[in-house]
Amino acid sequence: MEKLKERIRKEGIVQSNDVLKLDAILNHQVDPELIMEMGSEFARRFHGERITKVVTIESSGIPIAFATAAVLKVPMVFARRKRTLTTDEDCYCERVPSFTKGIVTDIMVSRALLSPNDRVLLIDDIIANGDAARGIVRIIEQSGAEIVGFGVVVEKAFQQGAETIRAMGIRLDALVTILRLEPGNIVMAD
Ligand code: 5GP
Repeated sequence: MEKLKERIRKEGIVQSNDVLKLDAILNHQVDPELIMEMGSEFARRFHGERITKVVTIESSGIPIAFATAAVLKVPMVFARRKRTLTTDEDCYCERVPSFTKGIVTDIMVSRALLSPNDRVLLIDDIIANGDAARGIVRIIEQSGAEIVGFGVVVEKAFQQGAETIRAMGIRLDALVTILRLEPGNIVMAD
């Protein structure tokens, strides 16, 4: 997606050698037209997988997952974050460290919303170390649903998250791959 790369080049801010601020397009403001294009692209890439649900984690994954689900014409479920784990019999829960907030949160999905008959496409905004991704994968595994793939907008390839998901045998597709961050320069794969 050349247009997305262009927007990242123009509006992304390198905060450090491992953090890219994308508030203007992903994490604080969204451009509905660009988000819908991302949704169409994910729907195109995973076409034919008989997806029954798109699942993401609040909050930044929501617009992209919504756009993807709208194109695929299936429901979208977002895992909710809680500060502490209150064991809830009706929920699948997993504990995940948060890369940006530096805290541990619990993510949960109601048992009523996933079943072993579901074929799930996971969607998220950015993958770094992969803690959030592995947490949501464990939730889907608990439910018995099938994971057909994982779509992320940005893969930071200099961190290990995407590779750990691929090593689990899950197809992970990124719209943009960032090779490294340098002061004032975002180096992306072609
Ligand atoms: P992970 O669990 O893969 O380490 O981190 C995933 C989450 O942390 C993403 O969903 C994203 O919201 C946030 N995150 C990780 N790296 C970055 C980054 O470089 N910039 C921003 N804005 N968020 C990030």
